[in-house]
Amino acid sequence: TIAVRQRLREAKRWARAAAVLRDLQERCAAPAARLQQVSAAMEVEMRAGLASEDGSKLKMLVTYVDSLPSGDEKGLFYALDLGGTNFRVLRVQLGGKERRIIKQESVGVSIPQHLMSRSSHELFDFIAAALAKFVASEGEDCHVPEGTERELGFTFSFPVKQTSISSGTLIKWTKSFSIDEMVGKDIVFELNEAIKRQGLVMKVLTLVNDTVGTLAAGRYVDGDTMVAIVLGTGTNAAYVEHAHAIPKWHAPMIKSGDMVINMEWGNFKSTHLPLTEYDQALDAESLNPGEQIYEKLTSGMYMGEIVRRILLRMAQEAALFGDNIPPKLETPYILKTFHMLIMHHDTSPDLKTVGVKLNEILEIESSSKKTRKLVVDVCEVVARRGARLAAAGIHGILKKLGRITDRPDKRRTVIAVDGGVYKYYTFFGQCMESTLREMLGEEVASSVVIKPVDDGSGIGAALLAASCSQHLQLI
Ligand code: BGC
Repeated sequence: TIAVRQRLREAKRWARAAAVLRDLQERCAAPAARLQQVSAAMEVEMRAGLASEDGSKLKMLVTYVDSLPSGDEKGLFYALDLGGTNFRVLRVQLGGKERRIIKQESVGVSIPQHLMSRSSHELFDFIAAALAKFVASEGEDCHVPEGTERELGFTFSFPVKQTSISSGTLIKWTKSFSIDEMVGKDIVFELNEAIKRQGLVMKVLTLVNDTVGTLAAGRYVDGDTMVAIVLGTGTNAAYVEHAHAIPKWHAPMIKSGDMVINMEWGNFKSTHLPLTEYDQALDAESLNPGEQIYEKLTSGMYMGEIVRRILLRMAQEAALFGDNIPPKLETPYILKTFHMLIMHHDTSPDLKTVGVKLNEILEIESSSKKTRKLVVDVCEVVARRGARLAAAGIHGILKKLGRITDRPDKRRTVIAVDGGVYKYYTFFGQCMESTLREMLGEEVASSVVIKPVDDGSGIGAALLAASCSQHLQLI
């Protein structure tokens, strides 16, 4: 009878775990009709954000980038890419139309957690020191004549109110950064001061968001690139808008007639978003409650954490990992999206990798195959929802651009995409693309191309610095 009782208990646990999963699947569902609503809401918010400064959750920031790389860019340029958990310093030798990128070198440095919330001085000193070290180690081929300044493009991947192509103030922090005293300050001024403290002779020519860098890098390789999406630690989009379609911007006529807009779509919010109690709790306990809601559903910083919260609930309500709740499972942000994708992509018949990861990260020593399968199912629900919502966002941009209906010329539209979630989370990328195709319909979908742009944010900043430098030489 003990055995019978045990089996009965076991069956009850599974019924409870299955109920939690079913409920989750229902609440996270993003069927086609709902995605069309999300896309429509995105378009409405885009227009509202373009109309006035505080017209929308979408900031729709004017970037002062009115022309994108042509391929003619020449010379030696540097780029600094700051925005996720690490930053990178790059050096790019551009050879013009024929030779393109002749040489490119870079180093990545991870940012110690404490520097993300202390003082701007400490953060920028750390960055400038890495930059100085990079310059000091370069060879003869990078020699810059005495007295000439090295030229730098700075990719700073947070919402910035730009005052020119090379200056702007921080609107707010996102992701894991929270240095309060920096909000409202000029980013380039802070960087320049830190560069001077290092004794470096270097000039910041451009300040760009990573999406704008990705757009520039995308255009460099494909002239039909109109939109860029970053799906990484955070998420965002930039696109080419007609200058006359930005009512809030009272600026001089631009020759090209175009202006790149940094949407800051991570802050998008709509009643149509399928939010669950897990998302609400994550948001309430985050560094920025009430903000970046769309980002919290679709990006690398948060998806793993959502999975952790769901697994914790299953452990509490259905003893998923045995009678005791694994203590590690109670640690916020311990489960990264990178771990989630490794488990999700496990194709071995007995889900061995899932078991290894559960052990490594959450110290769950043994797990049944059934449990491991449930973990994979949870990852799948969270990733599918994020990917489908990202597709709906892209659909909204294409609608705003008139690339869905009024297309007499059936122009190609290329969307440049970068970021770790897109690059490494194959399921996510594929699901996003198939959802977008499904939303567009076959005919339109055949003229829309999603193009991965590796390292777009850094190279794009160097390319834009090059165009800027050439422009300055002309005047
Ligand atoms: C930031 C954006 C950035 C995106 C991707 C968001 O959290 O607000 O500026 O483009 O992350 O890095």
